[in-house]
Amino acid sequence: MHAARRRNDGIRAALLAKFSSVPVLETYRQMAIRRQKAKDWQQAIWWVERGLALYGEQAARPESVDDLRNRSTAYQAKLTAPTKPRRKVAPPNHNAEPANPTIEVLVCETCGLSFDRVVVRGRKPKNCPGCRRPERTAGGVAS
Ligand SMILES: [Zn+2]
Repeated sequence: MHAARRRNDGIRAALLAKFSSVPVLETYRQMAIRRQKAKDWQQAIWWVERGLALYGEQAARPESVDDLRNRSTAYQAKLTAPTKPRRKVAPPNHNAEPANPTIEVLVCETCGLSFDRVVVRGRKPKNCPGCRRPERTAGGVAS
């Protein structure tokens, strides 16, 4: 295939001289369709444009050229159309308050009861509000 690709220019001249028609045009269409199925629009366009550039003017079958031209337009549209985001874009402001606060259930380490709180960034509380001690005024850091 690679060798054939490199030799296309020579083949074209030979074909045009011998048949004055372009049977190879179908190959470009097939390759474009193959890339199209893989949603590889750039490669699909490459094949279409290549086929048109080589055979567009001399093609024995104008409908084939029209097909390639239509494909080129369609592929270009695919290429420039906004694609579905493949990864989620992080919200621009991480510190913004969530519009809909999420409630999470935590278990108090002291009394074992569960309690709710609004999810916020940072350290989770270990104790329920009833057991929570004012750490800074407790006179020393627990070790
Ligand atoms: Zn508690």
